Amino acid sequence: MKIKCFKCSKIAVYYYLPRNDDEYYCEDCISRGCSCQCDFDTDEYLLDDLGRKLPCVEYDYSEFGYDNDDWEKFLEDVERAGYNPNDCYSIDEYVDKIISEKK
Ligand SMILES: [Zn+2]
Ligand SMILES: [Zn+2]
Repeated sequence: MKIKCFKCSKIAVYYYLPRNDDEYYCEDCISRGCSCQCDFDTDEYLLDDLGRKLPCVEYDYSEFGYDNDDWEKFLEDVERAGYNPNDCYSIDEYVDKIISEKK
């Protein structure tokens, strides 16, 4: 499954890198026109193929969106092992168990 934009429900294609905040945006919700995306000489905003201002360089772009399959598979494992995938403490217990089993 693809990760969705956190403002609407479209597939997210941008991810804000500096913060680890789960900030994912689609083409429509991303904020555009950052000063880092200006032409050095003319000071005008650089535009993409569709004539839109570019988002800040701090956003990672993925044409086909981002998968969260790995996370979902992990949660299935949590549930199969008898832990509650909706409870972060329960997930922690599961992770502790896995780690102790690997020792
Ligand atoms: Zn959106
Ligand atoms: Zn910027």
